[in-house]
Amino acid sequence: MRATRPVRPAFVRGAALLCTVLSAAGTLSACGLGGADKPTIAHKHSLTIGVKEDQPSLGVKGKDGTYQGFDVDVATYIAGRLGVPKSRIRWRTTNSSVREKALADGTVDMIVATYSITATRKRVVTFAGPYYVAHQDTLVAPGNTTIHNVRDLKGRKICAVTGSNSWRRVIEERKIAAVPVQAPTYGACMSDLADGKLDAVSTDDLILAGFAAGHPGKIINAPFTDEKYGVGLKKGDLEGCEQINRAITAMYQDGTAARLLRKWFGTSGLKLTTSVPQFEGCS
Ligand code: GLU
Repeated sequence: MRATRPVRPAFVRGAALLCTVLSAAGTLSACGLGGADKPTIAHKHSLTIGVKEDQPSLGVKGKDGTYQGFDVDVATYIAGRLGVPKSRIRWRTTNSSVREKALADGTVDMIVATYSITATRKRVVTFAGPYYVAHQDTLVAPGNTTIHNVRDLKGRKICAVTGSNSWRRVIEERKIAAVPVQAPTYGACMSDLADGKLDAVSTDDLILAGFAAGHPGKIINAPFTDEKYGVGLKKGDLEGCEQINRAITAMYQDGTAARLLRKWFGTSGLKLTTSVPQFEGCS
């Protein structure tokens, strides 16, 4: 029997060709492959943005309800580039434990909250960026003289923030048998460290630097990971992702990134990188 090949009428073939041309020109929406029929933050009039509320220098909620920090400033800049002024941004505290869910159910449109791009998270989140690459380090109580690197965390009580990746980096990736002590946020970790309930808080150097300014404790200065801070979007919003990547590039090119890094971490002693990070690609 002869195999029959479906013959497409000429007008269908013509439309397909037109779509190829249009998509090459960046107007996918004309072919129903983007734009209005696919949820994207790209053309929104206002934005709800998820940030942290208890991470000094990154995302802190003040008594008056306003948020401030590096992540808040980065998010404000990106929103501006997307055509959404500060007055049309709604901020929402988005702790590590709720980030994926908040994006999936639409509680927030995007997340800028020390949110590392990881392979596991990429399955359920579209990440723009990274907008910065931090490195995991460890903070210990001021009098501690025995923890010098990540291996010294063996048998020690470390903070395990729900939904955060940092304790997994130590226990699961590095296979160091530290004792995880659950906490809801990094702010809670710092209180637990001060109360003697923990030996160490191991997480991103930017987070530790923010806390170190106002809490007792010392950073051991033994970084051991790359934490690529991404802008989290609902899975599949490739148009929004590409627009945000353009905004991040502009943020570095026009000097804003360097200014914001200096503003929030200029006195921290951290070596700050002021060149645009290598993007992961939108997926
Ligand atoms: N960047 C790490 C993460 O995304 C730790 C900080 C956090 O949980 O916000 O898991």
